[in-house]
Amino acid sequence: MTQPLVIAHRGASGYLPEHTLAAKTLAFEMGADFLEQDIVASRDDELIVLHDVLLDRVSDVALKFPGRHRNDGRYYVRDFDLDEIRSLNAWERMRADGTAVYPGRYPAQSGDFGINTLAEELALVQRLNAEHDRSVGVYPEVKRPAWHMEEGIDIAPPLLRTLAEFGYEDHPDQVYVQCFDDAEIRRLRNDLSCPYKLVQLIGENAWLEAATDYDAMRTEAGLREIADSADAIGPHIGHILEPGADSVPVSTGLVAMAHEAGLAVHPYTFRVDELPAGFMSFDDLVSFCVSELGIDGLFTDFPDRVVELRFP
Ligand code: CA
Repeated sequence: MTQPLVIAHRGASGYLPEHTLAAKTLAFEMGADFLEQDIVASRDDELIVLHDVLLDRVSDVALKFPGRHRNDGRYYVRDFDLDEIRSLNAWERMRADGTAVYPGRYPAQSGDFGINTLAEELALVQRLNAEHDRSVGVYPEVKRPAWHMEEGIDIAPPLLRTLAEFGYEDHPDQVYVQCFDDAEIRRLRNDLSCPYKLVQLIGENAWLEAATDYDAMRTEAGLREIADSADAIGPHIGHILEPGADSVPVSTGLVAMAHEAGLAVHPYTFRVDELPAGFMSFDDLVSFCVSELGIDGLFTDFPDRVVELRFP
């Protein structure tokens, strides 16, 4: 049994507001193997690190730019220039009423953090690696590519360009590129000559994240098709385990099926404050997924808690 790859989900987001450089620095210091970036585009076509295309649940945008929302009342990153985005305070993720999504985490609507570009984050990672003589990798997600196309920007080519500018083409093992959209994964591999490992994220069709049939993916045939383009899958925890008799969690068989197809498995998201039914502790959850199911890596908001575990 080897240690699973520890992917810091939006940084050490269990402790500091997600995707801030502070959260990434903390994850680095905690010993994460990879730091995750979600990639979206600003109005002036800069690549920004932000979990989704909306600013209002993770910043003070509604206070600083009242009225700049769309008809649905939401504030879209695509409607703001980088200079405006830089003026925002990044906050712990909130619900629509302003209360924290995870109440035990960083206090809501407070702190002195900003939103950063992909280039700024890559510069930070490389500086930390140089200072500590480590090779912590990056794990960018091409966020909603079809939506970005409708908004007039194709974000995958500038993402690959930026990674190349930072020299990652010479260190392709330090990069995984992930996406929920299967057409985009195929395009990255076949048309854009992506030199990095590719991860097909698997969601639920009900999320409307992409025009992708996630139910069909979780079959032998579906996994074989994914393996034509991708190196790994990123399923939800609920796709790899389910409640069995007496609510004791059991395998769904997906991890073994993916391995059979030649795919590594990096499920999301392991949270101390959001355990799946049937687990009494975070350590039990991680141990079950690593030792019983055989996952190869995992996305976690609490990288320190996984790094400190040792698997026989
Ligand atoms: Ca992500």
